[in-house]
Amino acid sequence: MLYKNLNLLYGEELEYIKNAYLRIENGKITEVGTGGKRVGIDLKGSLIIPSLINAHTHIGDSSFIDCYDELTIDELVKPPDSLKHTLLKKTDENKILRGMRETVQYMAGSGISYFVDFREGGEKGISMLKNACEGAKIGYRVLGRDVKDLSQIHGFGISGVLDMELSYLKQIRKSAEKNGKLFAIHVAENPLSRPFSLYKYRRTEVEVALSLNPDIMIHLTNADLREIKLVRRVKGIVLCPSSNAILGSGIPDIPQIHENSLVCLGTDNVMINSPDMWRELSFTYKMTRVKNGSMKVSEILKMATVNPAKLFSLNSGIIQEGFSLPIIRIRKKYPISLSIDPIRTVISRITPKDIKVLR
Ligand SMILES: [Zn+2]
Repeated sequence: MLYKNLNLLYGEELEYIKNAYLRIENGKITEVGTGGKRVGIDLKGSLIIPSLINAHTHIGDSSFIDCYDELTIDELVKPPDSLKHTLLKKTDENKILRGMRETVQYMAGSGISYFVDFREGGEKGISMLKNACEGAKIGYRVLGRDVKDLSQIHGFGISGVLDMELSYLKQIRKSAEKNGKLFAIHVAENPLSRPFSLYKYRRTEVEVALSLNPDIMIHLTNADLREIKLVRRVKGIVLCPSSNAILGSGIPDIPQIHENSLVCLGTDNVMINSPDMWRELSFTYKMTRVKNGSMKVSEILKMATVNPAKLFSLNSGIIQEGFSLPIIRIRKKYPISLSIDPIRTVISRITPKDIKVLR
């Protein structure tokens, strides 16, 4: 199959290529080129961009959307006694599963090719996730815990160094190393964790987490510049700026973290924030303008496409020979039809209604 008469964002650098064509064979991109007369499906000058990747979700709480009012982060999501965990315990399993399924379908329809879920609930939780994704046109990665059969997970997803004993976390780290699994951990989300960590460990939360040599840190909302430089050796950082803002926990220093690390974006808990990566891109873009206006817009789009594809070794999220569909067609109508800077428009104005997912 061949798509012609399109513009696209090519490769790891999202290079803007005009008047291009794309050859697809068995769901894979086999050729990208320009010019020449070809037989194929005419996309009439549409912009084609890579699929989006949601690098951090907790879809298990999808049945409790906007259940909170004036609660702190700990009261809302900290295991084991927060509102989230209480609701999960007392809610019928079928209702939880229905919520997860709807979230998964919403994400697939909005152009997300993969999501990376922090899965609570051990093996049972993982089988529910698989069940929720059955038949859905989306891939996933599981960062789980309390699992005996490690073939069920792609890595470990750890709630934080202040929620668990450090000796236990060190054992998990060793197991991750031995079994070739990723080790991901929430770090410095809550502003109160700094004094608490200094009291408990005589080191900051970032320093303690770093001693576990994690592959991925999530949040870094309240990391200072010294700590942002310290975490350079971590493979990737996943930021969730909308979730942080809703919870009142602060805004991460996105330009500085980007300067030092490979940055991805995630939408975090579904009960708190929409799993809509277009909204996340738009909010992230605006927050970088608040912090520092000089960030390239393509660097922000990479956080939802190229960067997570690299961090999680995915075969989507990049338009290049050898990568798989889906890709996203931005419908050629308002606002993209009037745009002078298409990537800026993509990250700041496009919504799921403006796109078509090509599979
Ligand atoms: Zn999280």
